[in-house]
Amino acid sequence: MLVEPELERVGPEQADAEWERFEQALERTKDQLQGLLDRAADDVGAEQAGIFEAHLLMAEDPALLAEVEKGVRGEHLRAEGAFYRVMERYMVAMRKFDDAYLRDRVMDLDDVTRRILANLRGEERSGGAGFDHVLLARDLAPSETMEMDRARVLGFATEAGSPTSHTAILARSLGIPAVVGLHDVHSHVRPGDTVLLDGAEGVLIVNPTRETVITYESARRRRARVDGQLHALREGEAVTRDGRRVLVAANIELADEIGSVMAQGAEGVGLYRTEFLFLHHGEEPGEEAQAENYAAAARGAGEHGVIIRTLDIGGDKLPAGGEWQSEGNPFLGWRGIRRSLQQTDLFRTQLRAILRASAHGRVRVMYPLVSGVEQVRQANALLAGCMEELAAEGIPFDASIGRGAMIEVPSAAVIADLLAGEVDFFSVGTNDLIQYSIAVDRVNERVADLYQPCHPAIIRLLRNVVEAAEASGLWVGVCGEMAGDIALTPLLVGLGFTELSVGASQIPRVKHAIRTLDAGECRELVRRALGLRHHQEIFARSRQMARSYYAELLE
Ligand code: PEP
Ligand code: MG
Repeated sequence: MLVEPELERVGPEQADAEWERFEQALERTKDQLQGLLDRAADDVGAEQAGIFEAHLLMAEDPALLAEVEKGVRGEHLRAEGAFYRVMERYMVAMRKFDDAYLRDRVMDLDDVTRRILANLRGEERSGGAGFDHVLLARDLAPSETMEMDRARVLGFATEAGSPTSHTAILARSLGIPAVVGLHDVHSHVRPGDTVLLDGAEGVLIVNPTRETVITYESARRRRARVDGQLHALREGEAVTRDGRRVLVAANIELADEIGSVMAQGAEGVGLYRTEFLFLHHGEEPGEEAQAENYAAAARGAGEHGVIIRTLDIGGDKLPAGGEWQSEGNPFLGWRGIRRSLQQTDLFRTQLRAILRASAHGRVRVMYPLVSGVEQVRQANALLAGCMEELAAEGIPFDASIGRGAMIEVPSAAVIADLLAGEVDFFSVGTNDLIQYSIAVDRVNERVADLYQPCHPAIIRLLRNVVEAAEASGLWVGVCGEMAGDIALTPLLVGLGFTELSVGASQIPRVKHAIRTLDAGECRELVRRALGLRHHQEIFARSRQMARSYYAELLE
């Protein structure tokens, strides 16, 4: 519980001591965050540790600190009030944006604010209960999740949050069972109740019967056994029983993840979302820093290499603060290739960096949010210009670098045959393709039931893209979340995709699913699915086939 400090004045002669007190609290905070950062890096890898790096950056932000200093030294305010006034203003401004990414950043700011205030007040962060328990909270900050006594906290449930919030992501990486977004859970549970928490299905059962507990316990044992077996089989290719090879690659947000995704059995990286490199650093990384970062990913990605997607800031991934202009319809606005083709300096810097990395491993470049042929031509022309520059400067690069278009806008899916003449491969971003085709905001829970990967329109669009790619001899992958849903693997294999790029934890599962399926049967499934009218029927048939081959993975 955050007790908001009042705006209190001190005598002018106390101002310096007050500022010193604030600086000491800040130093303590930074030490704590550094400790958490080191612990997180060891326990969950560099990607999640990035959250605490972001917290550290906030605690060191010179603009923010200058404002606090003005309040303390200029207006003679007590440090708590001066500091809270500044943070509150930032949080109020950020809450006005109706998008998931900024909502998560407000949680980060809130977390840092609590920590600094606790240090100013000399409070100890709570040590937690001395017995095994399931934690219920209205909301949990990422650092609270990290600091949890994992020997005692068996799992947690929160009223707020979404599956894409940092807290949910951290819980998954730490292996803590968690259910987020359980509206009003507090009015249904009392301290001391026995609860059963199923993180996989997002279920919390209060005071379960003995039968329910026994059923869940045996399901848990089965899942653990299957995970162990899959881990042992994660290396090697994924080939269907009738000999169809499907590449299983990983999606990454930061280059540091490369080691851990390859260790999960990934065959290269099918999607490197470079915007997180920009967002995490707060400012634009220059050509040198980008080239090094991309080269590191390329070196670690093995023979299949890394597909580097050019910047896709916008939509639900807005930069925190800066000169970002609020847009009426951010998902339909200035993002992806549209933005890059207007900010050509930024784009050319990124293209040069990607080209430079192509001398250190297999690298391909991919353009996001393509909606027409002209955009790809312009992007390719800029790429060719960068190649000429680098050649003139004597800097090595791969002159035959693969160029790809993301297919995530319905217009692109419909004219895939025309786009095929401009690129070397397609990768379908189903997250956006579904949102735009069905006109359903992918982060708005009120219309979530309309967000249906098996909608007949989506299946037809996917088929159109694969047919266009095959007719032009292009390979075509899927890098949206749909690729990692093993209930849908039969459909995607049957549609003829040659690559599935998925989140790290799904790699062994997707590989196993492909190995047990028969591509001919999957094609027949798609043929029948194309005659069906309802997404429920299409989903049910795909899931039924999945169940008949790998029921143990779907439990
Ligand atoms: C997609 O849209 O499916 C995709 C992979 O891109 P992102 O989720 O980054 O928008
Ligand atoms: Mg997308």
